[in-house]
Amino acid sequence: MIKRIMARLQKSSVETTLKPFHKTLIEIHALGESLKSLSIQDLKARIPELDTQAKVFAAVIEASHRLLGMRPFDSQILAGLALFEGFVIDMKTGEGKTLAAAAPNIANALAGRKVYLLTFNDYLAKRDSDLLLPLYEFFGLTVGVIQADMSSDERRLAYQSDIIYATAREVGFDFLRDQLCLYSHQIVLTKLDVAIVDEADSILVDEARIPLVISGNVNQPNEHLTNVSKAVRDLVETVDYNIDKHHSNVHLTDVGTHKIEKQFDCENLYDVEHLPLLTSVNLALHAQALLIPDVDYIVKGKNIKLIDEFTGRIAENRRWPDGMQSALEAKESLAVKKEGQTLGSITLQHLMSLFNKVSGMSGTAELAAEELYELYHLTSCVIPPCKPCMRIDKPDRVFIDNHSKDAAICQEIDAIHKTGQPILIGTPNISESERLHALLLENGITGQLLNAKNDQDEAHIIAGAGALGAVTICTNLAGRGTDISLGAGAKDLGGLHIIGTSRFESRRIDDQLRGRSARQGNPGSSQYFVSLTDKLFNHFTEEEFGSIKALQGELNAKAALNKKIAHAQRVIEGANLERRKTLHRYSEVVEHQRRGFQKLREDILHQNGVEAFIEDVDERWQGLSHINNDKRTEALVIVVLYNLDKVWIEYLSEIDYIKESIHLNGAMGTSSLFGGSEPYHVFIRQAHEVFEQLIGKLKDAVVDTFNGVVIDENGIDPDSELFDMTKSTSSYVVVDNPFNGMDSQVAKKFGQKMKKLGF
Ligand code: ADP
Repeated sequence: MIKRIMARLQKSSVETTLKPFHKTLIEIHALGESLKSLSIQDLKARIPELDTQAKVFAAVIEASHRLLGMRPFDSQILAGLALFEGFVIDMKTGEGKTLAAAAPNIANALAGRKVYLLTFNDYLAKRDSDLLLPLYEFFGLTVGVIQADMSSDERRLAYQSDIIYATAREVGFDFLRDQLCLYSHQIVLTKLDVAIVDEADSILVDEARIPLVISGNVNQPNEHLTNVSKAVRDLVETVDYNIDKHHSNVHLTDVGTHKIEKQFDCENLYDVEHLPLLTSVNLALHAQALLIPDVDYIVKGKNIKLIDEFTGRIAENRRWPDGMQSALEAKESLAVKKEGQTLGSITLQHLMSLFNKVSGMSGTAELAAEELYELYHLTSCVIPPCKPCMRIDKPDRVFIDNHSKDAAICQEIDAIHKTGQPILIGTPNISESERLHALLLENGITGQLLNAKNDQDEAHIIAGAGALGAVTICTNLAGRGTDISLGAGAKDLGGLHIIGTSRFESRRIDDQLRGRSARQGNPGSSQYFVSLTDKLFNHFTEEEFGSIKALQGELNAKAALNKKIAHAQRVIEGANLERRKTLHRYSEVVEHQRRGFQKLREDILHQNGVEAFIEDVDERWQGLSHINNDKRTEALVIVVLYNLDKVWIEYLSEIDYIKESIHLNGAMGTSSLFGGSEPYHVFIRQAHEVFEQLIGKLKDAVVDTFNGVVIDENGIDPDSELFDMTKSTSSYVVVDNPFNGMDSQVAKKFGQKMKKLGF
């Protein structure tokens, strides 16, 4: 039974056969033969006659050959067909995904659809669109590129194009800003129709749950935080507070609670009246005990910069939710910045659901196939590489503790280094990379260090990483998208050797690191070193490892142990998927209301339905009969939009509050406060109540504003506070669910799975 279900699941998430596309491929080649002898002008003259997908593809192939000097390989044509059909393609790095996307983009655009190629970053949006521009222009298509520093006029113009290259994040921010426009001519985005997502697993899975946020008017900083942060600094782990085994939650003990109560002169910290203090204490404690410098963040200048756990890079424009960000600033003795008020927010997952047709590409899509299917109903398919991969992946070497693992890593590096073969060493975070760099120095090996602290030297370091005798120590930063060329002589020594100093929780990150070696038919090899004290195993209790822990040094890493490690990764990936789904369920509630709200707002913006308010403001409306009716209506529209936005902003802040209190109750084990209801149901009920309440007050608020604001023949006074809210906004990405603990249901499922696996 289970086998059958698994088979079905696999079938739906990964399409293993490319058979249907092979038929079209043959047809494309047949059509292509007749194009080879055409002059470029004659080829262009054929464009209006391209009435089938195969004809478009054949023309794109020929035009690419003539204009770019590249004739797409069969693997790229198959990839293009799969993209056109809405699959996520797994195509190894260096196989030419950029060009593969050209044909489906052109086919969609010629069919009158609006196409978005969503890239991993701004740089790639520019680079990839520049590369293909001659091809697109040949087909009479316009191309727009969105960059973070562009003005709204530039953006509006770019979005008019047939094909748009942009990051999902920029599109999301434009979407949110559009939701705040007071005049329809201020809108920048046009319709969201077809999307091809590059690095699909990263954008659609890893980043799915992070909300994009724009904020405006600032709130006062929390005055408690600085003092609370100082108090928390003196608390001692295991005496005053405890950290859970997943290293994701921290709780005060009774002793710790009493210390805080004494210091802040309050009788019972858990009294409702002390809720603000309790919240601050929780935030400060979390910042102090769980967020680690050089792992989770770095301090650069006077700012906290987050490190993206998957890419190892500084995540510009990303921050923790306001309270946590401030707590961290207080911890690092930086000035606590004022907090912004959230004006709008959407998760990437919801943003993607606004597109009519989504497909994607990545070098590690297959490993994310289940997530892609579960979260988006997208099916993945694997495109075999042009040249078979020559990399030798050696089995993991497993050690009982870090000490013996370190010794073995140094020994191995020393031995390989003596042969001259270049080595790239991947570490899980900045602090580990620095530690290993120092350790190697002690052993007489000078390595190049590459992490988020010196990312300005990245191009230079990567350029030398494949040279004879190179030893490069990096974080995940040298993963996705990094192209290391082999220096002279390195190929004969076996190419680039990759050493991973621990396994990541996601197999895809491991594969990204491995993928730096043996590119485009070159030789290469890789090996991971694992210690049972690695973060990966935090999820397993001591008893679960009891029999193994009695051993010493290197374990005889038989297949069974390697299997267990792979299982552990899979189980954790599964638990992460469950968590994403849980979070999605919560955000679905808000998203549902956002859509209804957006529809209402759009109608009003285009002056549909605004008449409904005229009756309510009748007296003033009549009093303004001397001014132009268009101006009078425009003024009412602005007043209604202003009040609608206020409703929405208040709603978002209430939602945050509800979430926080649900979390707090959960963390304190007082879910009985909800009368035994599931937190999710409590959340839905409260979210709906708040929304209804706020919408209920809308009419009165519109009347008040309309009666109070200055309106003359030019409309509403441009200096009116009605325009303040949207004057200066900032956009950033928030780390959702900073209390990264698994919710109880997930933890339970996780435990059951672990038992089954024999841990
Ligand atoms: P990926 O994104 O899959 O890692 P790229 O799109 O960056 O790969 O392409 C890798 C390299 O291969 C680029 O230098 C590109 O110009 C080259 N390339 C891609 N397709 C072809 C082709 N059909 N013929 C020749 N060179 C190609």
